[in-house]
Amino acid sequence: MNLILLGAPGAGKGTQAERIAEKHGMVQLSTGEMLRAAVKAGSEIGMKAKSVMEAGGLVSDEIVIGIISERIDQPDCANGFILDGFPRTLPQAAALETLLDSKGKTLDAVIEIKVDDTALVERITGRFSCAKCGVGYHDTFKPTSTAGVCDKCGSTEFVRRADDNEETVKNRLMSYYRETAPLTGYYFAKDRLKGVDGMADIGEVTNQIEAILS
Ligand code: ADP
Ligand code: AMP
Repeated sequence: MNLILLGAPGAGKGTQAERIAEKHGMVQLSTGEMLRAAVKAGSEIGMKAKSVMEAGGLVSDEIVIGIISERIDQPDCANGFILDGFPRTLPQAAALETLLDSKGKTLDAVIEIKVDDTALVERITGRFSCAKCGVGYHDTFKPTSTAGVCDKCGSTEFVRRADDNEETVKNRLMSYYRETAPLTGYYFAKDRLKGVDGMADIGEVTNQIEAILS
């Protein structure tokens, strides 16, 4: 099973992708994570992407399509993958279709996580993750069970994203409405789009997604 999770920044794509991937033995493919890794490694792609990401803009289609094309060829994707943060533009969606066709793979569902704009800033500015295993948390909505200790791996080190500040969030929302929101129309017209209420709590959103997948 291969899925796309659509939604504004902070809607809960990563949170849900992590849960669904674990349950179904699928791979979570986050272009944002891959780009952050490239920036950290100081690779050529990372150097090109860094300033765009810091400003809340979109990295070029050419770069992200290249990254995804290579990644879905890896053996671990054979069991199914969840795209989280890709595609983000109409050309990326068209390229994905061509790519999947050429590799004999299918797209089984496109699920939009719908969240009120007013909730997004609060979700993003409270987000943090474990520095060791990467699992995601929120100051208010998903704190660690024991303060300062990761539930999953026990690490006591956490990180916050450089672009998770109020000013950059506004730019990311602009990029979303300008470039990414049209994708809901694109997939609706292809009879692929399903929606879930992303304002519900995390477990309830997962239940809604599971209901679509079954
Ligand atoms: P995205 O991947 O769409 O940018 P995330 O999955 O990282 O969003 O979620 C953003 C923040 O909101 C995280 O800190 C996460 O813990 C929190 N969050 C995710 N889903 C919900 C929800 N349904 N209710 C409240 N907070 C949520
Ligand atoms: P995310 O982790 O999904 O919030 O992405 C973080 C940042 O990475 C975005 O604000 C963009 O700058 C960049 N990015 C991630 N995915 C894409 C994509 N598919 N197309 C263009 N830029 C992307």
